[in-house]
Amino acid sequence: MRLLGRSLVEEFGQQPLTLTLLISHTHWDHIQGLPFFAPLYDARCRLRILGGEGARKGLLAALTGQMESTYFPVPFSKLPSNIEIEELREFNFAVGSTLVRAHRANHPGVCVGYRLLSPDGLVCFFPDAEPRTGGADREMIDFIRDADVLILDSQYSLAEYRKHTGWGHGCVEDSVALALEAGVHRLVLFHHDPNHDDRMIDSFVRHARALVKKRGGKLKVDAAREGMTLRLNHRRAP
Ligand SMILES: [Zn+2]
Ligand SMILES: [Zn+2]
Repeated sequence: MRLLGRSLVEEFGQQPLTLTLLISHTHWDHIQGLPFFAPLYDARCRLRILGGEGARKGLLAALTGQMESTYFPVPFSKLPSNIEIEELREFNFAVGSTLVRAHRANHPGVCVGYRLLSPDGLVCFFPDAEPRTGGADREMIDFIRDADVLILDSQYSLAEYRKHTGWGHGCVEDSVALALEAGVHRLVLFHHDPNHDDRMIDSFVRHARALVKKRGGKLKVDAAREGMTLRLNHRRAP
């Protein structure tokens, strides 16, 4: 969020920003960047934050609570930008030319994944998800079908997953099976475990590619990294 804020400010210069931010859920690792998002401090910025409905005390309380004086020097109420926080009731809407759909992910609490269909391609984003029945989660397969890019929670190796089943995170085997079944073009392994170093992540990627090869698939697999750029050039009818 910090780097994104900075790059938006650089890209648009003096132009006022009108932004929509989609939040999957309010666990720490997914909201802590928000107070460091530069556009929040620009009075001309209009920001609409959307997230899953029904998070325990509500989305507003979760996002503003982390900016109370115990945790952060600038309270939410003192931010100069114009911010609207809305819980998703409609799971099918448009943001500019991008059609957005949301799907409940299997993860503790309320957590959604997004399907973003733009004129340039289809991106599915499931930062935290443990696919039901492993790689054979029918609802999820239908939701992500034919995605150009699927960014998916693949935190564990199979051995680690067996010790953490039900914790709400997936493993490389299930991610590959799910992506192959759904005809996804490119899988980006995400939600890296803080205990995994670069060598471990590289071995996950090699293992995932070997699984694809064994199944005769064409799926491309990479690991997500900070600052990574994914270019869509798959023009299709929205
Ligand atoms: Zn989470
Ligand atoms: Zn997480």
